Amino acid sequence: MPELPEIESLRRILARSAVGRTIVSARILEPRLRRKVARGFAAAIAGRRIETLARRAKYLILKLANGDALMVHLGMSGSLTHRPPDAGPSAGGPIFGDQDDPLDAAHDHVELRLDDGSRLVYNDPRRFGLMKLVAAGALETTTELRGLGPEPLDGGFSPEYLALKARGRRVAIKNLLMDQRVVAGIGNIYAAEILFRAGVRPARRAGRLTRAELGRIAATVAPVLREAIGAGGTTFRSYRDSNGRPGAFAARLKVYGREGEPCYTCSTPIRNVVVGQRASFYCPRCQK
Ligand SMILES: [Zn+2]
Repeated sequence: MPELPEIESLRRILARSAVGRTIVSARILEPRLRRKVARGFAAAIAGRRIETLARRAKYLILKLANGDALMVHLGMSGSLTHRPPDAGPSAGGPIFGDQDDPLDAAHDHVELRLDDGSRLVYNDPRRFGLMKLVAAGALETTTELRGLGPEPLDGGFSPEYLALKARGRRVAIKNLLMDQRVVAGIGNIYAAEILFRAGVRPARRAGRLTRAELGRIAATVAPVLREAIGAGGTTFRSYRDSNGRPGAFAARLKVYGREGEPCYTCSTPIRNVVVGQRASFYCPRCQK
């Protein structure tokens, strides 16, 4: 499942080809996503210019000229790709979708035709994604975004803030970092990497961490996410960028997916424990 760095990488790539273009028409081939694509969706976005391409948490947000915003969430297996005018159904690059399982046109569910003849295509084999149009001004209060914590790359996320959220909490620190109401956009991969670099074990109770440990964690979040964005995200089972390129951050993962392999710092084998029903990788020596 893509996390903040993958969505931010995708946003940057799509912005180059989509911002400033006008959506000529939209075709809904399969409306049954996580929530059904609204009746009238296609008519409401046709003729609208894409003013900006923003991101909030793991949502891509296409701001349209009339002030409406088109929210896109990729769910578990979705992709949003830009396909040039001469591209066939699956040409223009695979994208998100299993590497062993190239993008299948049968899962192209929503197609936005742009004024230069290119298309933005939403493909999603498992259909857990979301495409939703939100009226001007209603974005921050819409169901999906209401209640989300601060963006980890913005000033609202600080050591003081994390300490406040951790106070008295029995939840594992890794789950606290993955709680979207606490901080937006961090999932299983980056939570593991952040905790390794901060030297804190994933299963420790958030409320029992010292102020110094929480400070190290908070200070590690932005550098890890920025490094991952710079590398184009992580290629795990299903992620590729919109040009079909795998993200390069996989090669820089210190603990995620490395169970039994030696820690790069101390050579101790990396362990995998289940925390909150998720695999959680850590170094038993480097992390306390
Ligand atoms: Zn180690």
